[in-house]
Amino acid sequence: MRDEVLDRLIVALDVDGDRLRPLVEMLPNVRTFKIGMEAYYREGADLIRWVTDRGHHVFLDLKLHDIPHQVERVARVVAGLGVRFLTVHTSGGPDMVAAAVRGAADAGDMNVLGVTMLTSLTGTELPAVWDPATSVEHKVLALARIARDGGCHGIVASPKEAEMLRSHFGQGMRIVCPGIRPAGADQGDQRRVATPGDAITAGADHLVVGRPVTGADDPAASAAALFDEISSALEGGE
Ligand code: C5P
Repeated sequence: MRDEVLDRLIVALDVDGDRLRPLVEMLPNVRTFKIGMEAYYREGADLIRWVTDRGHHVFLDLKLHDIPHQVERVARVVAGLGVRFLTVHTSGGPDMVAAAVRGAADAGDMNVLGVTMLTSLTGTELPAVWDPATSVEHKVLALARIARDGGCHGIVASPKEAEMLRSHFGQGMRIVCPGIRPAGADQGDQRRVATPGDAITAGADHLVVGRPVTGADDPAASAAALFDEISSALEGGE
């Protein structure tokens, strides 16, 4: 499989502790694993080292949202652990985002990704969280601008908004999409979803996939099917 294809998939390790390491060992072709809050709060930096020692990259999904001073210090610590991607909530504001980018730059070459809006939020739930007069697209774009202005290397957004974001920001912005569901897969709590092929066609650089791989009877086969679908979509777009 081509490097370009392998680099597109990020598998989220949102599983019980006893399943996590066997799962990583089952998926040697997966370049980047996402360690979320659950696994990080359970195992901390030891887990990051264990994954990187096996030749994989780590996407640390801490979704930081605190005052700039703290976020800068956390980003510096995390970058020093050899993490490839760290997430921060863009709703923390431009100063907080810029602080994360500064902290990252001080220690290594970690990319800071700005989370725009959770892919589990729906049209009916959104008005309770955001201004009801604002459309999802408008809000996501405003949050993505905070990421860009703060110097983020990329943004995390639903594949439903990937095309709109790509047309606004061009190739300079890395777009990372969770909310990926192969045709026929269970949506779980995700709402603003798309298939892997559609997300790539819409302009996603990386796809974050959790349960469709980790919950499959054969996770390696599920990852292989994702790589095939990503590869076909990339060829279709050439
Ligand atoms: O299991 P599933 O494929 O739904 O996992 C998606 C992953 O992406 C989860 O680990 C979740 O924390 C993460 N994520 C998300 N929506 C965002 C940002 C991150 O679902 N906006």
